Amino acid sequence: MKILTIEDVIKALKNPPSEARVAVIKKAYDFAQKAHEGQKRRSGEDYIQHPLAAAKILAEIGMGGKTIAACLLHDVPEDTKVTMLEVEKTFGKEITAMVDGVTKLGKIKLRGSHEEYFLENLRKMFIAMATDIRVIIIKLADRLHNMQTLEHNPPEKQIRIARETMEVFAPIANRLGMGEMKTQLQDLSFQYLDPENYNLIKELEEKDYKQRKQYVDQAIKELESELKKEGIDVLEIHGRAKSVFSLHLKLQKHDMDINRVYDLAAVRIIVNEVADCYETLGVVHKKYRPMIGRIKDYISLPKPNGYQSIHTTVFGPDGKIMEVQIRTLKMHNEAEFGIAAHWLYSEYKKKKNWRDFIFKKKKAIPEKELEWVKQLREWQNEIGRDDEEFIQGLKIDFFKNHIFAFTPQGDIIDLPEEGTPVDFAYAIHGEIGNHATGAKVNNRMVPLDYQIKNGEVIEILTSKDRKSPNADWLKFVKTSVAKSHIRRELKKNES
Ligand code: MN
Repeated sequence: MKILTIEDVIKALKNPPSEARVAVIKKAYDFAQKAHEGQKRRSGEDYIQHPLAAAKILAEIGMGGKTIAACLLHDVPEDTKVTMLEVEKTFGKEITAMVDGVTKLGKIKLRGSHEEYFLENLRKMFIAMATDIRVIIIKLADRLHNMQTLEHNPPEKQIRIARETMEVFAPIANRLGMGEMKTQLQDLSFQYLDPENYNLIKELEEKDYKQRKQYVDQAIKELESELKKEGIDVLEIHGRAKSVFSLHLKLQKHDMDINRVYDLAAVRIIVNEVADCYETLGVVHKKYRPMIGRIKDYISLPKPNGYQSIHTTVFGPDGKIMEVQIRTLKMHNEAEFGIAAHWLYSEYKKKKNWRDFIFKKKKAIPEKELEWVKQLREWQNEIGRDDEEFIQGLKIDFFKNHIFAFTPQGDIIDLPEEGTPVDFAYAIHGEIGNHATGAKVNNRMVPLDYQIKNGEVIEILTSKDRKSPNADWLKFVKTSVAKSHIRRELKKNES
């Protein structure tokens, strides 16, 4: 394995590195390197290789200097003689608070029965998250590197860590919309939890994907010229392969018949604006016949984790079935990096020609696409702080208006503040919302307009006798998902 240096981390920085950022990263590295001196990992490498690798992951997803510094320091108080107090003396309160948060989360272990600890673990995670989301992002990078080097551990430990990753960390990455992180965590866990199926599917995929890739490449060429002809500004068009674990889930649904998995290979088209997405969809369907009933519009009805895109399955070159995904750049970055995309953008914005950094292309992104940047700017004006402090404050603000509630099975549903059981029901599934008759909070009956509080366990009572949502619900629901479902359902019943 390649020996990492701090220069590799600095080179991986996605954000244009400022002197101050590089300085704090180097200072943290020197400090951690000295503290871990002489310690080895199970692989035989110097211990410092672990925080370095995790820091590089964070640099790649666009996190800032302080988060990377905290990551470099994350195992210092736990595993060396250096205390938290000494870390604080050298690095100040903000970085130390992150190190402390990661250390505390490290004490959570998935042991005993699944049900008993699952909820509790997730709660701890989310409480930490509510104070500083960066703690969770560091923890995910830490876990990803531990998974990448899991082979050096004894088998029982491999299974325990992999299970914990699959059941706790991957769902959290998913909740945060960090698609790339989630996929890697799942595939690595799957490899240890079910090696037989992992190898089987990997083989199946590699063989099949090679064939499909030819057609995808051809479709990319054809669509590129078609979209150009129609005058649609395409920022990026590329092919994407399905992850091993998600293919496994799909195959189970389809009797292990790979020919029924239509999105094994997909074409992804990234455009400027939402309107361009729909125009692009029209061009795609003009070129390739769509498969009936396979158009999914997650732009007007986003997935509960916020995922937005249009998916359509078409008969591509030579009549080969493939999926086409269409989204704006903002949707794309949020799908890949999730919450981390927020830091990415705020850093880009500081650079004059920041747009060049994305895809290294000079393409204009209309301001209205960057809705959240506007929100941040407003917030910044309100308190009149400069950029640096403003980003520090973001950690609290981002989650200020969010609450997290749990299903009795331990699934997490995030809601806006003052979210109600009806919002909760629709966040789980449209049908659950449509048939909701009542709700229990921590086993106590509550009205449907009850305001859910952070960390509560919500059970939705449903009945087949309820044929449609109540129009009065529109008066108190908070989420657009609930609103659009209710309106659509009411309209349907009118006609
Ligand atoms: Mn660690």
